[in-house]
Amino acid sequence: MSENFETLAIRLQAERSAFKEHSVPLYLTSSYKFDDAEEMRALFANEKEGNVYSRYANPNTTELIDKMAALEGAESGWVTATGMAAIFTTFGAFLKNGDHVLSSRSVFGSTHQLLTNVFSKWGITYTYADLDKPETWEGLIQQNTKLIFIETPSNPGIDIIDLEFIAKIAKKHGVLFVVDNCFATPYLQQPIKLGADISIHSATKYIDGQGRTLGGVILGTKAHMLVIEGFARHSGPSLSPFNAWILSKSLETLAVRMDRHCENALKVAEFLEGHPKVALVKYPFLKSHPQHEIAKKQMKQGGGIVTVVLKDGIDGARKFMDGLQLFSISANLADTRSIATHPATSTHSKLTEEQRLEVGIEQGSVRLSIGLEHIDDIIADIKGALG
Ligand SMILES: *Cc1c(COP(=O)(O)O)cnc(C)c1O
Repeated sequence: MSENFETLAIRLQAERSAFKEHSVPLYLTSSYKFDDAEEMRALFANEKEGNVYSRYANPNTTELIDKMAALEGAESGWVTATGMAAIFTTFGAFLKNGDHVLSSRSVFGSTHQLLTNVFSKWGITYTYADLDKPETWEGLIQQNTKLIFIETPSNPGIDIIDLEFIAKIAKKHGVLFVVDNCFATPYLQQPIKLGADISIHSATKYIDGQGRTLGGVILGTKAHMLVIEGFARHSGPSLSPFNAWILSKSLETLAVRMDRHCENALKVAEFLEGHPKVALVKYPFLKSHPQHEIAKKQMKQGGGIVTVVLKDGIDGARKFMDGLQLFSISANLADTRSIATHPATSTHSKLTEEQRLEVGIEQGSVRLSIGLEHIDDIIADIKGALG
């Protein structure tokens, strides 16, 4: 098989049945049958590969895992019902009472809740590190630090963290390095090739890309994935075959969709920069981005999300959002349809004002997920809403 991304995303598929389907069928079966008692025993003893029960594996989930692993250069993987299930499963599989997590301060709102309100109940502590002070990270590693967790680009701050830099620190201290790669997708960034141990995706976002279904992906070495499997098989965060089937088909168009998302987003970022109503535009491939050089080094393109801070604070943000005609106001992102979100009152409303400001979310911040409509219509809508 070719090593080219587009070809792998299309041609790396499950074997076909005796019916010789051209498109991979949907396997709606909760369990599988065995030829004889001996085969049942061997499968349960892991002496033979094969399907047992769809909480463990299904041809559709296996195809999605195989594709995602190949696209990101990982040995193996696991898929879950949501992106949060992927993060919960990874933490649950590797952390025990008394362990410590070092995390970038800027993480997805629910990831922040997991660290502050869920894992803390089980005696797992955390420290947040500031990404604009990379020199402080190593000093924040404790004797009991088990895992470093980062998100790059971050949601919604669009901050960038140097993957190779953190990978070196993690390796030196024998700490597991986990990256939420959701905003970049395997097409724009491959953390494992840059030294991360585990890469996680909310497949709900660009992997689906059409706002239809939720899903999560965990990628890493075979040894690490055995730990994940040991936890996930018994705790049951399984992805449904139907959603896996959708997500696997969506991967076939990921490269072309991402190219257009990135092209449109860069044009929007350039348009917004310098607009009199705009205080700040954050987009990795704008020269004004504070970590522009790092973004260029580790990302193929800048992604589809632009975060803008309006000058008039909450009033400016609300007026802008209510003035949009084409954009949807929604909490999702990474859809074919352009979407505007106000993080301070939605995805990050559970944070205190101080915590929000620490991760760059102001009352005037609006996250724009740039879709695949015609760029002239997208820019005209933004122009009209800014007034
Ligand atoms: C959406 C998102 C998640 C959570 O994914 P779900 O599929 O909604 O559970 C995690 N991380 C990032 C960066 C996200 O944008």
